[in-house]
Amino acid sequence: MKFELDIMKTVLITGAAGFIGSHLTERLLNDGHRVIGIDNLFTGSKDNLKEASKHPQFTFIEHDIIEEFCSHKKINQIYNLACPASPIHYQENPIYTIKINTIGVINMLELAREKEARILQASTSEIYGDPEEHPQKEEYRGNTSTIGPRACYDEGKRCAETLFYDYHRKYNLEIKIARIFNTYGPRMSLHDGRAVCNFIIQALKKEPVTLYGKGHQTRSFCFVSDLVEGLIRLMEAPGKVTSPINLGNTKEQTMRELAELIIEMCDAKKRFIFSDLPEDDPRRRCPDITKAKILLNWKPRIAIREGLKKTIDYFKERI
Ligand code: UDP
Repeated sequence: MKFELDIMKTVLITGAAGFIGSHLTERLLNDGHRVIGIDNLFTGSKDNLKEASKHPQFTFIEHDIIEEFCSHKKINQIYNLACPASPIHYQENPIYTIKINTIGVINMLELAREKEARILQASTSEIYGDPEEHPQKEEYRGNTSTIGPRACYDEGKRCAETLFYDYHRKYNLEIKIARIFNTYGPRMSLHDGRAVCNFIIQALKKEPVTLYGKGHQTRSFCFVSDLVEGLIRLMEAPGKVTSPINLGNTKEQTMRELAELIIEMCDAKKRFIFSDLPEDDPRRRCPDITKAKILLNWKPRIAIREGLKKTIDYFKERI
């Protein structure tokens, strides 16, 4: 019993009602921890927390992290996942996107200081922008625009990393930074405009699939359970691991290849509508995950077909 109490942690997850946050919440509850989930329900949904809510060790608090957060409870770990993540959502209110990645991040870093908690930031491959180096290593400093439509997210997340490092240097805070590459799986929001969601919905409805540009741009897609495993391994890694770590799948494919695979898996006809590539849309993206392999003994396990099957089944129930 003593042993159980010692290893049970109280974990605060911001963005708990979101796609990744809700999977992380369930996994940590199943591992025997207490979870306090925070979300402002801007893009997250309580539906995503249906399973978690049945758990006696789960508490949900509707709160926006750009406002100060106070709690009397002891908190051991904080996963800061709160932020709209799809281009149509984060561009809807770009100033809010910057606030959540600066004011919101400072609020969470202050909470971590007060509680002497370890804190992990959900950073992103977007900090590499439209990369000139391929695949992207953590040392690559990126090619982003400060004024383009993606800047509120890219530069916001870059500033969040800077804040994490400054809190680490100034207050010796225990920090972890995960640079998350494209992730997919059940509970992605159906209408967030992402490639995986759009392609599956269009293929299931037997509509033509929308490809931006010629569909030659590449991404590498990681299934959500693999990503959650990587996040937990990073959080549990020794204190000296403070540098950003890429988490993503290394299987790079063009958007046309992804669309064709989804069309085949949904038994749809191969029909495309081509439109302009959005401004600042990265042409290539693929992580170098050597650091994650060495420091976390982590690599993705779920093959794209297996992950897509689970995602398509989830979407079928909701269309
Ligand atoms: N994309 C596309 N058709 C769509 C939605 C997206 O061709 O209906 C492209 C988009 O331009 C980008 C890639 O697919 O090059 C991945 O887009 P997503 O929004 O999923 O992720 P991100 O751009 O944030 O990596």
